[in-house]
Amino acid sequence: MKVIKNPRRTIHTDIECVPEGYANGKATNTDLDKETIINNASIAFGNFLTALGCDWKNDPNSMETPTRVAKAYVNDLWKGRFEDLPDITSFPADGYDGIVIERNIPITSMCSHHHQTISGAVHIGYVVGAKGHVIGLSKLNRIVEHFGRRGAIQEQLTSAIHQATNKACENNLGVIVTMVATHNCVSCRGVKHRGASMVTTKASGVFRHSGNDARKEYFDSIKINNGGHNI
Ligand SMILES: [Zn+2]
Repeated sequence: MKVIKNPRRTIHTDIECVPEGYANGKATNTDLDKETIINNASIAFGNFLTALGCDWKNDPNSMETPTRVAKAYVNDLWKGRFEDLPDITSFPADGYDGIVIERNIPITSMCSHHHQTISGAVHIGYVVGAKGHVIGLSKLNRIVEHFGRRGAIQEQLTSAIHQATNKACENNLGVIVTMVATHNCVSCRGVKHRGASMVTTKASGVFRHSGNDARKEYFDSIKINNGGHNI
């Protein structure tokens, strides 16, 4: 972890924790400017539509679709592959040693398997501890955006958000991340079931102990009953 320390705060410049290249990692072509990447992807998507027997070039609604799709990937859906996570500054907690919870962070992601969107909410909790650092609340949202805006499977995405939070919140006594999401690849294709949601939780430190007060406070707060089992 690259850090720049001074007595009062730490600036984390490298929270990225997914290997480059995979659909769930940073892009390998960031030496190109975004306009070039969008142009290349647009040509490729046009060929994809042509392969499906679609005369998109002569349909006024579809003739710009390859460009629209390429822009959506680079600027929105896979934005986290093409941009670095902003630096995250952590600060001494100055006497606060309890739990911090942020609930209902919205997430939009895309499954690596089918390139259909995943949408739902992420909940994050951490126990600061006597020597711990805290981070600005919106930085948790930034972490979720960074790792969510790329291809992912929910299990891996939950783990990446956990790992990044654990790095940023130094000397914590535990971090827990829960993601509740619906997958369009389940509702629109294959089994075609709407309304089913997936819940994943990654826990470390005190949150791994089923009798722990912080763990109980966290699950009471997000109102998910996991049956009291260790995760
Ligand atoms: Zn899928």
